Amino acid sequence: MQETKEIFCNQCGKKLKVENDILKEDAFEAKKQWGYFSQKDAVLHSFVLCEECYDEMISRFAIPVEITEVTEL
Ligand SMILES: [Zn+2]
Repeated sequence: MQETKEIFCNQCGKKLKVENDILKEDAFEAKKQWGYFSQKDAVLHSFVLCEECYDEMISRFAIPVEITEVTEL
């Protein structure tokens, strides 16, 4: 039996498909270790956003995301 860890979108709470600890659904994964120059005392923040929530987040950006085409996948 395969052990599957559940991963949820941090914004909407939607469950994302995970198999063998690998996201089988494309999602935005963020990890940030805050350091000395931040107001946060050396903590690691991480979250996952589903594609819909990611699109919603970037739609609020004043400057759009940089998009580079990837030829090799
Ligand atoms: Zn979501």
